[in-house]
Amino acid sequence: MRAKEELFCLGIEATADDFSVGVVSSGGEVLANVIDAYLSPDGGIHPREAARHHAEVASSVLAQALELSGLRARDIDVIAFSQGPGMGPCLRTGATVARALASFLRKPLVGVNHCVAHVEIGRLTCHLDDPLTLYVSGGNTLVTAYEAGRYRVFGETLDIPIGNCLDAFAREAGLRPRPGKPLGAIVEELAREGRELVPLPYVVKGMDLSFSGLLTAATRLLRSGRYRLEDLCFSLQEVAFSMLAEVTERALAHTEKGELLLTGGVAANKRLRSMLAEVAREHGAKFAVVPKEFALDNGAMIAWTGLLAYRAGVETPLGESYVRPRWRIDEVPIPWRERDRTES
Ligand code: AMP
Ligand code: MG
Repeated sequence: MRAKEELFCLGIEATADDFSVGVVSSGGEVLANVIDAYLSPDGGIHPREAARHHAEVASSVLAQALELSGLRARDIDVIAFSQGPGMGPCLRTGATVARALASFLRKPLVGVNHCVAHVEIGRLTCHLDDPLTLYVSGGNTLVTAYEAGRYRVFGETLDIPIGNCLDAFAREAGLRPRPGKPLGAIVEELAREGRELVPLPYVVKGMDLSFSGLLTAATRLLRSGRYRLEDLCFSLQEVAFSMLAEVTERALAHTEKGELLLTGGVAANKRLRSMLAEVAREHGAKFAVVPKEFALDNGAMIAWTGLLAYRAGVETPLGESYVRPRWRIDEVPIPWRERDRTES
């Protein structure tokens, strides 16, 4: 028998290519985390096609997650969903499923910020208290840490996200993703065979990053036919990851956080991991990488963050449950960390 005061939250993630449903308990136990990824033939994401995929798989992913959790639908106390940021058609599909479930089951609804969820599931699964986080994915590139009631942005991309940069370059090179082998992982494999560092633009402006000039330059060199693809992949990674490491290092020095957390799909990259481990080591900070299942877009992180928010008094009435494709992490109040605020 589970303790009566224990709460269960079901979370729905649908910001981009993945549709996922997770179930977690208020004790921090992940009871289910089912992810169904939409794989387009060329590795790009067409929002309406991804949304159609989500609508098609929603009921079976939901059923699988409930089955795995060992709970009945009426045992769920809270329904959470990714309200933004992300692609409009994808977000709307997830939000519709969440609203229908919450109304049908007469349970409270909580809209969760996807970026906040990446940080919170990282804190939970890596046993961290107050990390500086580098979140790198297909849709986001962000250096963030908690300060005075919010997750503040210490650095971010000014144009395209790092994952998008790697993927676009790979597509330009004629590479195609395979199940379990995203384009970024194929670039990483090729980069390991790189021998020559080809000069590419390194663009850090203040604490922000720009990857679009880097992508254009790398693509131009690729088309010139004068360089080995392996050398270009290697150089692209070295330059892009050094930019990320520089901004992360400065944020770590400024905030003096004792923990550094790496998350998002690009966190799977071993070269990026080793560069950031070095940054953490030099600053005496503990370094952690979120386990892959929870670093990718996943429903468990939405469920966990929904629970934290719900316990702190946050609810999203149906009338305010519209999606927020451009919802920034630093716009979100974080009442469940108020204690940290008064202590710091
Ligand atoms: P997400 O947006 O969090 O679902 O992550 C997807 C992004 O992670 C895509 O841009 C992938 O190409 C990228 N990715 C996945 N594995 C790797 C890897 N080993 N190295 C670099 N990027 C990767
Ligand atoms: Mg994804």
